[in-house]
Amino acid sequence: MIIIKSKKEIDLIRESSKIVAETLQLVKRFAKEGTTTLELDKIAEEYILSNDGIPAFKGYKQVGTIDFPGTICASINEEVVHGIPSNRKLENGDIISIDVGVLKNGFYGDAALTVAVGDISEEKKRLMEATEKSLYIGIEQAKKGNRIGDISAAIQEYIENQGFSIVRDLCGHGVGKNLHEDPQIPNFGIAGRGAKIKNGMAIAIEPMINIGTYKINVASDGWTIYTADRKPSAHFEHTIAIINDKPEILSVV
Ligand code: MG
Repeated sequence: MIIIKSKKEIDLIRESSKIVAETLQLVKRFAKEGTTTLELDKIAEEYILSNDGIPAFKGYKQVGTIDFPGTICASINEEVVHGIPSNRKLENGDIISIDVGVLKNGFYGDAALTVAVGDISEEKKRLMEATEKSLYIGIEQAKKGNRIGDISAAIQEYIENQGFSIVRDLCGHGVGKNLHEDPQIPNFGIAGRGAKIKNGMAIAIEPMINIGTYKINVASDGWTIYTADRKPSAHFEHTIAIINDKPEILSVV
């Protein structure tokens, strides 16, 4: 069931999402060669706590595995999403997806970006640019009168024209009192299908885009998702709300 939010509730999602965006910008500045993902995690956690937020991913439960131990998801190169922060050091040429969720005043915010470490290959650069652009192309479709499938189809068309592939087993989602609510927002699909987009909806759109196959696997840690062919993947995400018939990005500083 899609929960329509009041103006006051959207303001609370905006507040959480702003902390998410600030955390991402802070972590991005520290994502340099030689830094460990656990160090980035600590920076994120301290910032969120100092803003009276709660790291939303920490302790997240998933059947059959440990509760997620990090504040951030840190996913390097062939890792798509849900990478666990560790003592792994970032290396020149890596790309790292950083995903952050914050709970404050009972409402969540959720966003992600991919950062280049030092000098990256042309192919990775193209992947990152296309993934970020596809996010904004999807957001443009999140307007009253459209349907969820219009978001999905727009992302798919753009990405496939760029020669990249779309992760199919994971998707965007509604955001509110729960981190993951209805509707699901796939990054591929058919225009004109799915739920109608209405004022008061709050959703996270998050294309996960691969250079090679769209197929993914789960690592033995139970969390980290990586590409089946081990080729690089990128990920960008915003929490948005539909206000006055139009999308407004909430996860901005
Ligand atoms: Mg999300």
